[in-house]
This record gives sequence, C-alpha cells and structure tokens, in this order.
Amino acid sequence: MTNAVAATPHSLCVYCGSRTGLHPGYARAAREVGTLIGRLGWRLVYGGGRAGLMGVVADAALAAGASVIGVIPSSLMERELGHGGLTELHVVETMHERKRLMAERSDAFLALPGGIGTFEELFEVWTWRQLGYHDKPLGLLNVDGYYDALLTFIATTMEQGFVAATQRDLLLVDASALPLLQRLGESAARAGEPEDYRRI
Ligand code: AMP
Repeated sequence: MTNAVAATPHSLCVYCGSRTGLHPGYARAAREVGTLIGRLGWRLVYGGGRAGLMGVVADAALAAGASVIGVIPSSLMERELGHGGLTELHVVETMHERKRLMAERSDAFLALPGGIGTFEELFEVWTWRQLGYHDKPLGLLNVDGYYDALLTFIATTMEQGFVAATQRDLLLVDASALPLLQRLGESAARAGEPEDYRRI
C-alpha cells in the first residue's frame, strides 16, 4: 500500500445492490471493500440502508472502525431498512437530494454489483464527470465477471462512435478491491475541486 493512499483520509461513495445477488462472492467483495475502507482510515458514504450489499458494506466498514454516512429518502426507510447504527444518517425528501448529498460528501465513487439503482447512480456520476461538474474518480469493481457484459457493451458504444476513449477511461475498472481503492485514492488526492453540484 502506498503512503499517498494511507496518509490521505478519503470519503468513498459506494453504490451497490439493495439485494445480495445469487453468488456469495458478491457479499464477500462488499465485506472486503467495507473492511478496506476502515483499514485505510477512509469514510464510507452510501445509501443508508441495511438491505442487500448496502448493509454488508456498511456493517463491515463500521466493524473496521470507519465512519459511515448514510443518505436515504424518507420513503425508502422501510423498504431499504434504514440503518440505525451509522455515524450519520441523513433522511432526505427525494432521490435527487440523496444522490446530490452523497456526491457532495464524497471524493471518489465506487460501484459494486447491483441492479438498476446502482447503474443509474454510477452512470449519473460518470456523466457529471464527463460534463466537468466534478473531478472525482469513479471505479467499477467487476466482482467475478459480473460486469463483463456491460464492459463489452461499452466497447461496442466506442466502436460505434457514441463514446470516446477519453470518456470510457474516466471509469477505473478492476476485479480486485485493494488495487482499485488505491487507484481511486491516488486519483482523489490529485483531483482539484471544481465540482459544483448546484449545476446538477
Ligand atoms: P439496486 O441496484 O436496484 O438494488 O438499487 C441500489 C440503490 O440504488 C438503492 O438504494 C436504490 O434506492 C438506489 N437508487 C438510486 N437511484 C435510483 C432510481 N432512480 N431508481 C431506483 N433506485 C435508485
């Protein structure tokens, strides 16, 4: 682990499934990410629930001594099981407020396996980045090849002239958590502060 990463406390926003998925490897990876966040001395920012991989990553981060900030819309408190044991739980009115506050309180973003909500959150911060609304790094943890088909499709979008290589390269992809967190930490340390979420 490099000193640059260990010395810099970062807030990592994790997007992931409100379900755990079929294979135990998904929860294993979420647990590993939560534990690494604690060991690196980072803070976790996430959707504030106990459901699915969200709960797994939050519990592992808390167990590893990390501060954990959850942001949940009041309408989802029941469905996503608002987590009572977090360092901070912000209950907001709308999904837009949730995503904006999560983005504001983070300096890097990481998507784990998940469903439509996870895709939406990742693609949103990716588009915000390409538009220059923020300069924070984004990562995709491709656990057990879960995102292979998506990555193949993204290659198609490039071949067909809809996505530039520079846009594609904004997303850091890795199958292993620690190297990906290190790259995110190093990029976050280099990033400026041009973000202005009021434009979003
Ligand atoms: P999923 O990946 O579908 O299990 O959802 C993961 C998280 O994404 C959940 O906390 C959802 O509340 C959240 N999410 C974010 N944006 C949306 C959206 N537009 N529609 C549905 N879920 C969303």
